[in-house]
Parts: sequence; C-alpha cells; structure tokens
Amino acid sequence: MEILYQVIQFFSFAVNIAIALVVYFGRPKARVRRYFVLFSFSIAFWILTLYFFYRLIDPGTVYFLGKLNFVFAELIFYFLALFVDVFPDEDVVIHRRRFLLITVFAAILVYITQFTDLIDKDELIKGAERITVFGPLYSLFVIHAVFFAVYSILRLFRKFRRLIPGDIRRLQIGYFSIGWALTVILAISTQIFIPYFTGNYDFQNFGPLWTLFVVGFTAVAIIRHRLLALKIVASEFLATAIILVYVVEVGYSSTSIELAFRVVGLIITVFVSIQLIRSVRMEVHRREEIERLAEDLRVANVKLQEMSDMKSNFISIASHQLRAPIGGVRAYLSMLREGDFGKLGKKLDDVLDLNLDTLNHTLHVIETFLNVTRIEAGKMDLTKEPVDLCVMTREIYKELALTASRKKIRLVFSCPQKHAVVRADKEKLRNVVFNLVENALKYTEQGTIKTTINVGPKRVEMRVTDTGIGIAPEEVPKLFAKFVRAGGGLKISHGSGLGLYIVKTLIEAHGGEAFVESPGVGKGSTFGFRMLAGKVR
Ligand code: ADP
Repeated sequence: MEILYQVIQFFSFAVNIAIALVVYFGRPKARVRRYFVLFSFSIAFWILTLYFFYRLIDPGTVYFLGKLNFVFAELIFYFLALFVDVFPDEDVVIHRRRFLLITVFAAILVYITQFTDLIDKDELIKGAERITVFGPLYSLFVIHAVFFAVYSILRLFRKFRRLIPGDIRRLQIGYFSIGWALTVILAISTQIFIPYFTGNYDFQNFGPLWTLFVVGFTAVAIIRHRLLALKIVASEFLATAIILVYVVEVGYSSTSIELAFRVVGLIITVFVSIQLIRSVRMEVHRREEIERLAEDLRVANVKLQEMSDMKSNFISIASHQLRAPIGGVRAYLSMLREGDFGKLGKKLDDVLDLNLDTLNHTLHVIETFLNVTRIEAGKMDLTKEPVDLCVMTREIYKELALTASRKKIRLVFSCPQKHAVVRADKEKLRNVVFNLVENALKYTEQGTIKTTINVGPKRVEMRVTDTGIGIAPEEVPKLFAKFVRAGGGLKISHGSGLGLYIVKTLIEAHGGEAFVESPGVGKGSTFGFRMLAGKVR
C-alpha cells in the first residue's frame, strides 16, 4: 500500500507542476495564467508537504509539516478566489478592494495556522498514522474552505449568466466547473469529512489525485481556443515530465557514481528540453501570427464584399434613375426627327440625329451596368417571348447608321428568307446584338461590317464580321471575361471591358453559346452566338 501512496503522491505532484508550467508558458503575461500557476503550485506543494508529513517521524518536524499542509490548503483556496475573478478572460484587473480583502483575510489565516496552535493544535504520531489534534479555531478553517468554494461557484455562475450563448467563454467556465466540482466533492470528502466524522485517515492518501481534475480541466479550458498548439503543448508536457522523472531519480541515487551519471543525464535532458520548448514556442508564435493574418484577411474580405455590394446597389439605383428620363427624351427626339411635329429642315435633322446617337449609346451603357449588377446579385430574370432577330438587327442598324456613315463604314446585313425567330428576353437580346455591332464599329477603322443570320433546323446563328483591328490569337480565349480589354482595343477607345462579358452571360442564360473568331491582328474578326430556334407565331 505504501508504494501505491507514494506513486500517487509523486505522480500528482509532477503532473500538477507540469500542467501549470505548460499553461503558464503558453502566455506568461496573462493574469489568469499566473493565478492558475500559483493555484496549481499550491496544490503541488500541498501534496509534497503531505508526503513528508507521513514519512518523517521527528515530532517537531511532523507538527511543522502538518501546519504547513494547512497553509497550502489555504493558499489553494486563496489563489482559486483570485483565479475565478479573472477567468475565463485572460487579462482583467481584479477589483482593488476585493483583492485587498481576500489577501488580508488569507494572510491572517495563514499566520494563525502556521504560528499559533489555534487551528492545528498538535500532530500525534502513531506508526504510519498521524492524528491531528484540532485547535479551537479549526472550524474557522472549515468555514473558510466552504465559503471560498461557494464564492467561486457563485462568481463563475454570475459570469456564465452574463455571457451570451455561443460565447466560447461559457464553454471554458463549463470545463472549469466540471473539474472543480469533481475535485472539491472528492477532496472535501476524503480530507475533511471522512477523517472528521470517522477518524479514518487512510483516504487522505488519495487526496492528491483529485486535484488533477480541477487542474487538468482548467488547463484545457484556458488553452482550449488554441487547440492548434495541442501537439506543441503535448511535447512541452512530455519534456517537463521527463525532467521531473530525472529529478526524482537523482534524489534516489545510492552511490556517488550513480549520482554523477544521473546529474549529467539530467543536465543533458534539461538542455535538450529547453531547446525543444524554445523551438516549439517559436512555432506557436508563427502559427498564431498566421492565424491572426488569416483573420485579418477574412475581415478585410467581408468589408470588401460589403463595399462591392454597396457599389452594385448604387450603380443599380443610379442606372434605374437615369434610364427612364433618358428614354423619355429619346422618344420625344425620335418623334421630332420623324416629323411628327412638322418639318424641321436638314440642319435641325442633323442635330437631332447626333443627339439621338449619343442618347442611344448612353442608354446602352446604362443597360450594360444594370445587367452587370443584376448578374452579380443573381437576380437576372428572363421574360422570354418569340423575338425576330432580323427585325431586331434592322432596328439596331438604323440606330447605328449615323456612326457608321461618319466613319465611312459600310453596314451589310443579310437576313434569311425565313424569319429568324428565337425565344428570348427581348431587351436582353437587344443588348447582346447592339453590343456586337457597336463593338464592330468601334474597333473598325474602314471597310465593312457584315451581319449574317443562319437559320438551321434547330439552331439560329448570328455572326457579326468586321474588317477591323482583329485580335491576337493568345487574346481570343480571354475576351469574354469580366473587365478584359485586349491590346488592340485599349488603344482605340475607352471602354469598361464589360460588354462581351454580358454578351456571354446573357446568351448562356438563354441556353446558347457566344463565340469569337479572328484570323489575327489587323485581319478583322467575327463575333456571334448560337441559340435554339424558336417557333414562328
Ligand atoms: P470594351 O469594348 O468596353 O473594351 P468589351 O467587353 O465589349 O469591352 O470588349 C472587350 C475587348 O474585346 C475590347 O477591349 C477589344 O479589345 C476586344 N474586342 C471586342 N470587339 C472587338 C472587335 N469587333 N474587333 C476587335 N477587338 C474587339
């Protein structure tokens, strides 16, 4: 039995110290960790004094150790009280008055315990047994222990209630409470109540083991949110444990040669362990840094996304507000131009043509922005109806005729005998065709723009071929992406690089495909699309 008790005590002592050190070195400056270390060291030394208390036989020493053991028990409760004041936060300052009150009380109690016989009157030695003769103030010790225990529970309970569900600190308090409850219930039973009521002191030997619950669970609670470092913590723990085993071995050396060997072994182990722990701590710092950077990046991303949404919203609102009035003005100008209000004469007609041209272009740009914001917001609804591509292209040719004639570019259009009907959202398809023809005009300096429509049994294909600047082969595959502007285009005009992206997205939304072909730079190009043929009404 004796061997078992010894193992229990050494094991508990070593593990308590090891856990405390691991937690402490995780973040030495944090208040909660300092109190935790003091708390678990008090426990460890409480165990150590208990060990010698049972093994030494000089009455004076045994009495001294008995009292010292009480003192460490008091320190356990004292540091526990300070610890729960900070925990589960890492670094809050304890209220000054509360700190003073607890400290003064603990100091008085420690003084009374160690230097008077009011609490521990005497320790009688009966072989392996020790019998405590309680002093008149022993009940003060018991009351103080119960009081501090209840105080800790209430304090943590209040903190727990104030935290909102889902807060990780609630979980930390939970961990601590479980460990704490296990330890206190078992310890009070074996250390105080069983000896007090039955006079059986054997169970006191198990006391040290119970402390591992509170220390272990609390350690997990403190370092829980750094689970990343678990491997690292384990290696620190291992190193500490090996050192402790060596220390014990040194203590047990029987010859001086053995002692010398073990001391050398200990020194090497300490040296290697320190190196290991150092590198491990650097690793922790690095990982923490990476975690912090990742978090920064996440926050920045969220902000960017918010800004992007705001921008899309803004463009959407602005475009809506612009589209209606400009559309209205265009309608009136068209009526004027068509002579609905009487003949105006060539000069005014020319002015009107110019204005209509500008308005068409502006409306088209607005439509482009609106389409992009709709696509980005995932809110693109298609209202499909049969649309005759020939009719639509003729209208667009008419709108762009002025620009073409100013650049002296010939617009050619060949429509098949049959109707070229597709089922599509009329406005969106118009945007597509307009984009293609307008681009052809934009990127052609002279020559012809020829639009052909081929109606197959299942599919309708539209091709807009120009004699313009053409496209380098390596740029062809990129053109339909958002904000892409190819080399040739950049020199010729200002643009957003959105037009072809919209063409592709809209055509694909209709189940079709957009394409581009070019024999090379300076050799013109063909842009177009294919989609399912619709039925003629
Ligand atoms: P933007 O015209 O505003 O630059 P687009 O998405 O409509 O944006 O076109 C993307 C790029 O594709 C243009 O910058 C241009 O380089 C190229 N491109 C488009 N159409 C033609 C064309 N008909 N001929 C040559 N290059 C073209």
